[in-house]
Formats: sequence, C-alpha cells, structure tokens
Amino acid sequence: MPNPGQHYPDHLRGFVVSAADLFPSYEDNYHYHYQVVCRCGSRLFRVYVSDKESVKAHCAACNTEIMLYDLSKYPAATKLEGPEEFQRLTTKDQRDATKVFVMYEYSRLRENMEYDPNDITWFYLWLEDKQGVLEMMIDDETA
Ligand SMILES: [Zn+2]
Repeated sequence: MPNPGQHYPDHLRGFVVSAADLFPSYEDNYHYHYQVVCRCGSRLFRVYVSDKESVKAHCAACNTEIMLYDLSKYPAATKLEGPEEFQRLTTKDQRDATKVFVMYEYSRLRENMEYDPNDITWFYLWLEDKQGVLEMMIDDETA
C-alpha cells in the first residue's frame, strides 16, 4: 500500500519538486526524492548543518531560509536540548551556491496506523558539485 498524500515533512511544503526521475532505481513507496526550489524560483542554495543534526538551506537569490531536516519535527526522533550552532556544508570542490537534493524515507504503515508526512525514518542530502555531479553529504537514520 503506497503512503497517501504528501511525502515530505511539513516544513518543506512549497519548497520541493519531485526528483524521482533522477533516482529511478531508488524511488518507491517508501523513498521519495526531491529537488529543493525556492518560492522565488531559484534552485541554488547555501546549505548549513548544525551540531544537533539540523540542516537548512539559504536561497542564494533571496536568502529565504528553508529547513531540510529538523529532528524536533519528527515523531520518531529526539533532538538534543540546548543552543544550536550551524556550519557551512559544501561539496569537496567547495561549490558556493548549489542545487540541493533530498530523500525522505517512510516506514511501512502498520494496521490502524495513520499516515503522517512528518514521520520520516531516514534522510539523505546531496549537493551538486561544480562538475554537475551529485555528492552525498548526509545519510542519517532519523529514529
Ligand atoms: Zn529565493
């Protein structure tokens, strides 16, 4: 049974388009791939990761901040308390603003369990380097 409806956490609403065609052998009823797109239309971002495993993207054109991963938002996750410090995350060749791709994994729904788009179980992040190659930056099991 495929999960019905939205297949990314609520904080991504309005900021993603499907990238299933780029990951055809990995896209299925439990794994959904997206490219991050700003409301201004830009697809180039600077990405930051925190010591609490949060990941955010800043639009290179209009500076809108988009949360890509935040353990405080997912039912199965626990986020460490305290202040959060972010650092830039770049490809090996240090591309400045880059295209950003993400994958959210969902577990199989159990009997009588209601689907929750925030109930993710795994997160991947890729950034595109200067050669146009996708580099996997983050591979994190949520729970
Ligand atoms: Zn923008």
